[in-house]
Amino acid sequence: MDNIKVRNPVTGQIAGSVHPASISDLTLAVSNARRAQQKWSRQSFRERAAIIAAFHDRVIDQAPLILDTIQMETGKTRRDSLAEVVSVAGTARYYLAHGEAILTSRHKHGAVPFITSSELAHRPHGVVGLITPWNYPFLLSIADALPALLAGNAVVLKPSELTPLSAILGRSLLVDSGLNPDLFAIVHGDGEVGGQLIRHVDYIGFTGGSATGRKVAMAAAERLLPCSLELGGKNPMVVLKGASLKNAALGLLAGAYSNAGQTCISVERVYVESSIFDEFSQIVAARTRKLKLGWSPSWGLDMGSLIHSAHADKVMGHIENAIQNGAVVLAGARRRNDLGPAFVEPTILTHVSLRAAISTEETFGPVVSLYPVESENEAVVVANDSVYGLNASVWARNSDDAMQVARQIDAGSVAINSTLMIYNAFDVPMGGIKQSGIGRRHGEHGILRYTRDQSIVTSFSTAGGYDSMLTKIGSAKRAESLLRVLKLWRRVPGIR
Ligand code: NDP
Repeated sequence: MDNIKVRNPVTGQIAGSVHPASISDLTLAVSNARRAQQKWSRQSFRERAAIIAAFHDRVIDQAPLILDTIQMETGKTRRDSLAEVVSVAGTARYYLAHGEAILTSRHKHGAVPFITSSELAHRPHGVVGLITPWNYPFLLSIADALPALLAGNAVVLKPSELTPLSAILGRSLLVDSGLNPDLFAIVHGDGEVGGQLIRHVDYIGFTGGSATGRKVAMAAAERLLPCSLELGGKNPMVVLKGASLKNAALGLLAGAYSNAGQTCISVERVYVESSIFDEFSQIVAARTRKLKLGWSPSWGLDMGSLIHSAHADKVMGHIENAIQNGAVVLAGARRRNDLGPAFVEPTILTHVSLRAAISTEETFGPVVSLYPVESENEAVVVANDSVYGLNASVWARNSDDAMQVARQIDAGSVAINSTLMIYNAFDVPMGGIKQSGIGRRHGEHGILRYTRDQSIVTSFSTAGGYDSMLTKIGSAKRAESLLRVLKLWRRVPGIR
């Protein structure tokens, strides 16, 4: 098989190449991982954590190299690349501080008080398979691997074939920090290699588009394999009268144009109360027109390239279709071939038809549609009118009003006075509802998903134990006594 060449999306230069995994490469990687995992899972949390702590510091020390690598294979700006480093360090920091407490076995109520007991333990699955996309190649490949490793698993990763170099660098930083190389293998290749991986691992963590997610779920179901699916979104923002329009506009720019809009949680549709619609639209459009586009290692650029020209074609297709259906362009809507083959200007549209693809499908580019609404209630109804439910954003007169709206929105996360912040709020779960996915990363969920619960129940040791006692109830009188105890039991605090 020919090597996969990784191209810089802006210059077209070859940034590196990787060897696609054959089936035997993949099965060897999984069996080596399985062997190494047995020893790893017997090590204490603290021993595992020492390696992840060294990795955390190495990531920060090696940030310039990581940023160069991410920029080279994605065409994104320096700032967008830094966001990946910040979130990887944050994930490591969070699970180093809280992982042990979350994973520690707990005593629970027994079948009957005092004479029986229960313990809940969290055991690693074994070999965790991760399949990741190209939009955050360092973050998504590495951050989801850290809790899996800390929980005692080995990881086999299939990164996007467009952006494998950041994952390779992340793995080598882990190995340099002391991780046994067999505990984190990378298999390269396309979706077929991803499909093969699902057949061999003990858990699959998938991040990518909803259509692929459905295929992954079906392949996992065939093996009754536990999985998590972090999928796409069509994320709404709500701007209500009384909100600071300048703050909301700045928030929208960050939420819509970071990573050139190629972020699962980025804002693509904005519902603005009609009394402030024109003013808000003008502020946003004026600021959008000022954004600096380009690709270089300098820190001065606001927005970089899309991943490739076919993706830029798709984004422009959404814009053109919206315009044909009556949309008005307030900013952008132009391809910028002078900067590179996949640049699209940050775009603001109004008068967008609710039937246009851009109103319902994930665009995954730097395009925002603004829609006027008559009331807070209408904003909630239209924000919820989507097959997706990943993330949302609310801007209102004060946080109480915003909270009221946030609680009515059907999404896995809602940000108030912010847009993308959930990605760095590590103590709460992040994930989608509806077609945005199943399962959660971050918080307790983000590490417990890599474990299977095991309950160990202990009976008193005499006379054949608890079950024997139950089976020996051989008279109506004894049964009646038991039923009387049951009635009382529900009413006794501390043991019910
Ligand atoms: P894809 O779904 O196309 O691909 C994701 C990964 O799955 C890639 O590694 C891909 O391989 C692999 N793959 C493709 N087909 C299969 C298959 N049949 N079985 C197993 N694996 C397969 O997504 P993109 O790479 O285009 O990423 C963009 C999408 O990811 C967007 O929809 C975005 O919203 C979503 N996303 C969601 C996030 C979340 O947290 N909810 C975070 C980031 C992105 P290859 O491409 O190499 O062929």
